[in-house]
Amino acid sequence: MGKLVEQYIEIAKKRNPGEPEFLQTIEEVLTSIEPVLEAHPEYIEAGLVERLIEPERGISFRVPWVDDNGKVQVNRGYRYEFNSALGPYKGGLRFAANVYPGIIKFLGFEQIFKNSLTGLPIGGGKGGSDFDPNGKSDAEVMRFCQSFMTELYRHIGPHTDVPAGDIGVGAREIGYLFGQYKRIVNRYEGVLTGKGLSYGGLAGRTEATGYGIVFFAREMLKHCGEEVKGKTVAVSGFGNVTWGTVQKLNELGAKVITISGPDGYIHDPEGVTGEKVDYLLELRGSGKNICAPYADKFPSATFYAGKKPWEVKADLYIPCATQNEIRIEDAKTMVANGCKYLCEGANMPTTNEAIEYLQENGVIVGPSKAANAGGVATSCIEMGQNAGHTVFSPAQVYEQLETIMVNIHKAAADACEKYGIGYNLIAGANIAGFEKVAEAMMAQGIV
Ligand code: GLU
Repeated sequence: MGKLVEQYIEIAKKRNPGEPEFLQTIEEVLTSIEPVLEAHPEYIEAGLVERLIEPERGISFRVPWVDDNGKVQVNRGYRYEFNSALGPYKGGLRFAANVYPGIIKFLGFEQIFKNSLTGLPIGGGKGGSDFDPNGKSDAEVMRFCQSFMTELYRHIGPHTDVPAGDIGVGAREIGYLFGQYKRIVNRYEGVLTGKGLSYGGLAGRTEATGYGIVFFAREMLKHCGEEVKGKTVAVSGFGNVTWGTVQKLNELGAKVITISGPDGYIHDPEGVTGEKVDYLLELRGSGKNICAPYADKFPSATFYAGKKPWEVKADLYIPCATQNEIRIEDAKTMVANGCKYLCEGANMPTTNEAIEYLQENGVIVGPSKAANAGGVATSCIEMGQNAGHTVFSPAQVYEQLETIMVNIHKAAADACEKYGIGYNLIAGANIAGFEKVAEAMMAQGIV
């Protein structure tokens, strides 16, 4: 890392104490874009990096609600509107107990480059709350969402800031949030994406992130002269992202041999297919553990309580659960097992130390901001659908999604070539995402 970047990281550390996730992504991105900064002294003069690492606006608010026992609960809500150089702020809402500004800022910062990579006119933002919807009744979730939106509505709008889901925010939460927004503003507009199909949602949005990840992995393997077909794949998580990933991998002839849940993971060497996937969806809906019951029902699977699937030997690894789920010790096990490819599904699932180790040992890593960009890309298509008062067919969506993912891979690979950095997709994606944002920020002056 050069002096210039070190200096920016120092600034970020001073301004964001106690926020390691945010500093982790800043360090990763800035280290990659160093050659671009060296080639553009005018960026330094324009204070571009100092501006980029500071959210344009961040709000934090009280979210009071009443639980089913009549007791008043108070959570914290956040929205960080990070960068609007390319378009209205766009990015999900995360509801999880560990949410605090450091998590939202890391996600918002990532979102700037991810959204830029899609080639679509969307800026970056993220929000959420430390409210955990797991174990709450529908009525409690509704009251929470209504209270959350009662503050958030004044900061968002179809041309201002368009939230969507993320961990803990699915179709149910988006529905309640949308209902409350509409009631307050008395306008029917596409202010949230990931809506239900009956009220403005986009066909294919639920599986889009996972499908996009597999398209990206396919491009990555193709670049290396290989194909997805016949590969064994270790996947983690079992939310929407995992579900879409598993579906598409099965369709392309790969074999998914692991999935994970809060209770541990299962190894199923015969593959997670057909009725097994349906059973997982059923378990997910019931709010119960995922993996132990799966292993009880399907004898081909073994359950490993409290563990992660990175100890299993596979051709391709796709972490889809949450940030920093692959640490240095996991990376060492993966390399010892002959790992060649890692394609990140969740946002920043690998620590910087683990990435460095994997890359040093020849593993090709597809970074999340490129690989999982299919989710937000289809969200932007949903915004277009709503603005045009129309409905797109699943085929129309899938076709656009595939093209976007192929283009994202190409943009990252081209940036690698332009800067002579080998096939380092992490750096390539950061550079390609940054170049467009930088150009737009320069054109718009010091704002
Ligand atoms: N939360 C998703 C992400 O991390 C989707 C965001 C969106 O659709 O706005 O990209």
